[in-house]
Amino acid sequence: AEKSHAKGPARLRLGMVGGGVTAFIGAVHRIASRIDDRFVLVAGALDNDPQRGRDFALSIGIEADRAYDSYQEMIKAEALRPDKVDAIAIVTPNFLHFPVAKAALEAGFHVICEKPMTTTLEDARALAEIVKRTGKKLFLTHTYTGYPMVRQAREMVADGAIGALRRVQVEYAQDWLAAPEEDPEAAGANWRNDPKKAGQGGAIGDIGTHAYNLAAFVAAEEPSHLLAELTALVPGRQVDDDAMVLMRYASGAKGTLWASQVAAGNGNNLSLRIYGATGGLEWWQEKPEELWYTPLGEPRRLLLRNGAGATEAAVSGSRIPAAHPEGYLEAFANLYKDAADVLAGNQQQTLVPDAADGVSGLVFVTACLESASNNGTWVSLDALRNG
Ligand code: NAD
Repeated sequence: AEKSHAKGPARLRLGMVGGGVTAFIGAVHRIASRIDDRFVLVAGALDNDPQRGRDFALSIGIEADRAYDSYQEMIKAEALRPDKVDAIAIVTPNFLHFPVAKAALEAGFHVICEKPMTTTLEDARALAEIVKRTGKKLFLTHTYTGYPMVRQAREMVADGAIGALRRVQVEYAQDWLAAPEEDPEAAGANWRNDPKKAGQGGAIGDIGTHAYNLAAFVAAEEPSHLLAELTALVPGRQVDDDAMVLMRYASGAKGTLWASQVAAGNGNNLSLRIYGATGGLEWWQEKPEELWYTPLGEPRRLLLRNGAGATEAAVSGSRIPAAHPEGYLEAFANLYKDAADVLAGNQQQTLVPDAADGVSGLVFVTACLESASNNGTWVSLDALRNG
């Protein structure tokens, strides 16, 4: 006799903008959306080259009538279908996030958007308003919030494991933009070095926002003021590739954020060290299964994902037992799994960053640009937040 299986939750229909054959993060979204079987990719405008986008869409199983030439065409056509997509993932260069998200939300679609949410603070605020007005959801894929040990760190801080916050040290160092571009005007030139496509912030927008978001996520506190030095260490570059930021918290705590894309030997060396009056926590993205915890006066101890002492969020964000490695893709999948729970109505609260976090990211970048352009003055984040 055939075994009977309980019917799982219906899969949500996903559309994608960007993430073509040459792209990096689009493929990560596709994998992450499938890990828990909660989404099926059915539509896409995957490329700025329509033909290449359609060809690639077909090659990954999108039906021909849903392989679109442009996001405008996709949103218009999907809105008229009875089996329209539920959500649209936006995985294009930064300057397209705002127009695509706006069009998608206004046409009634939920949005899963890459960071930074927009290229200007003005657009970020406008997008947050559109989210409110349309009642649709916007999930912002700050990947690192999906790691079980990051979620555990957040829960431990909230539970008082380190006491009152004293110091935040967050660093994101890479080296993949360390070499000068041969011809910055060439068609294939990296959009990240073009302020029209990336925004005025370079490294500060690209990875500084990840570091800032990670610190805010774990500390559950954002600084009130910052002072930034932004530098293009590669000659001729139009945006910063190295950023050093000092932060002051209203509570009296202090922070330092370093983001660099020109530090030889660093791949994705993101780390968070956070210290309070009674303890400290340390986490390295390249060893994501490990969280170091020191209660003041006791030996430093190594906590493992889904291991002894794991908190609720860390357990529910894990798929396999401790010591079978999970990593980047599973962390990303947690964002998709949690988004699916929200969209299916199973969950109201979510750990996935939203439009407010997107605004925070742009407040941060804007404050850094303002401080740096004034030769490093203290800038009030609160003033920009209340804008
Ligand atoms: P990429 O250059 O590798 O890919 C961008 C894709 O967008 C390409 O396929 C391109 O053809 C497509 N595209 C460009 N214009 C388009 C248009 N008008 N319509 C449809 N598609 C279009 O870039 P990437 O590294 O994948 O980055 C994309 C976004 O993801 C950026 O905003 C970046 O900041 C973000 N990102 C986030 C993470 C993360 O950890 N969450 C990691 C990498 C990148």
